[in-house]
Amino acid sequence: MVYDVIVVGTRPAGAATALLLARAGLRVLAVDRARFPSDTLSTHQIQPPGVALLRRWGLLEALLAAGTPMIRTARFDHPAAVLHGAYPGPDGVLSPRRTLLDALLVDAARAAGAEVWEGFAVTDLLWTDGRVTGVEGAFRRGAPASASAAVVVGADGKRSTVARRAGARSYRVRPPTSGACYAYVEGLELTGGEVYPRADRLASVWPTNDNLAVAFLSVPRARFDDVRGRGFRAGFGERLAGTRLAGPVRATVDLPNGYRVPFGPGWALAGDAGLVMDPITGQGIGNALRDADALAAALVSGLGGGRPLRAALAAYQRRRDRERRAMYRITTSMAAFGPDRAGRWLYPALARDPAGVTCFLGVLAGLTPPNRLWPAALRGLRLTGPRAQPLNTADERFGAG
Ligand SMILES: Cc1cc2nc3c(=O)[nH]c(=O)nc-3n(C[C@H](O)[C@H](O)[C@H](O)COP(=O)(O)OP(=O)(O)OC[C@H]3O[C@@H](n4cnc5c(N)ncnc54)[C@H](O)[C@@H]3O)c2cc1C
Repeated sequence: MVYDVIVVGTRPAGAATALLLARAGLRVLAVDRARFPSDTLSTHQIQPPGVALLRRWGLLEALLAAGTPMIRTARFDHPAAVLHGAYPGPDGVLSPRRTLLDALLVDAARAAGAEVWEGFAVTDLLWTDGRVTGVEGAFRRGAPASASAAVVVGADGKRSTVARRAGARSYRVRPPTSGACYAYVEGLELTGGEVYPRADRLASVWPTNDNLAVAFLSVPRARFDDVRGRGFRAGFGERLAGTRLAGPVRATVDLPNGYRVPFGPGWALAGDAGLVMDPITGQGIGNALRDADALAAALVSGLGGGRPLRAALAAYQRRRDRERRAMYRITTSMAAFGPDRAGRWLYPALARDPAGVTCFLGVLAGLTPPNRLWPAALRGLRLTGPRAQPLNTADERFGAG
């Protein structure tokens, strides 16, 4: 059978793309070398723009019904000031285990009419006259197979085979600078997310399914070996005291940053395959869902004759690059653990005014443009007295770093 679109990779970017294309009536094949439900090396914070898409697609209720916490408040606990408040807008940060989220998306794609091959690894692209026309690969037990389509979407993650085989050009690449570790924790009382940025690390704790919390620690690469094992708990000061790790500490330094041109003749990229950034700001899943939304619209329009496919995909790239630019800069800067020049005055100024805290959380959530921070900080600087928040409240138990 010839498909309209083959999607390689069926986690957030790929399964959501397949779901939307199938709902639009296209013939879709989605393949993944993994089987579902299955875990992947990732924590779980979906920023509010991604949550809004899950709501729009009718998937949020099932995640909430499975006990997934919607986190409406966060505490950003910097040595210079504590910013504690609510996210702006109707949605908070959602924190589903990937075993749950990814399987739900795959099931929804299938229910919408996409054909899904699990346990199928793509090894190469098929080409006709300089255009990608399909994929070839093998099932786990070795049986080879191939399939053809008008467009192949690479949603196959940061080490994308589709991008490599298609020759997708990289740009704005920044070298990996951090190492990341995380573990599940039992017995940690949390009312929201907590983030502890320090000079030599960033630690955060977030509730997730099954009454567990996920504890995430990011450090400069040079410190990775110190914290990946026994040093993990120490990275959280006293915050994990009295709790138990429910499972091993998972760790990686495979944390690239960079953009790829996300389309060419017969192919397109979504999610980490097209734009990857360090997980320190927890943007990747939301970005993958946003890519799926925009790419599916471009493909529906381009393949349906609404506008030339190339123009639709070029608009997809422009929009992606415009929307992610500021967060990419924030993320790569935080992951570099350089001197925190702004923090010393910016955070105390923002902390004086609840509107400043909301603005700051909105920026981290990808809801508020970062240039709104400066006017908010200036407003805060004018406020004094009883509205000022105490500084360094967490340092004694956490360590200033
Ligand atoms: C330690 C860590 C913590 C993170 N924490 C967060 C967080 O809290 N919040 C957040 O938003 N993001 C986080 N991220 C990033 C997030 O995991 C990714 O951005 C997100 O998973 C990208 O989704 P995706 O669908 O593009 O790719 P992936 O989730 O990587 O999925 C790609 C899929 O493609 C399949 N595949 C790959 N190659 C092939 C092939 N050749 N043939 C067939 N299938 C193939 C894989 O099996 C996989 O299932 C974290 C990342 C790390 C490393």
